Amino acid sequence: MTTTAPEIIKVDKNADGVSCDGGMGALGHPIVYYSFDGEPTLTCGYCDREFVKN
Ligand SMILES: [Zn+2]
Repeated sequence: MTTTAPEIIKVDKNADGVSCDGGMGALGHPIVYYSFDGEPTLTCGYCDREFVKN
């Protein structure tokens, strides 16, 4: 078996940033905020979720 693939979360194209708490379950972590800083994608450093602008 492979390791769990990171989730990809679509966010509004006008969003400046995202917050992530890892969601429910084992991947949960303290809530953190990230800014896109002009980038089209963001990866959560805790749970490896990828946030992609629509
Ligand atoms: Zn996260």
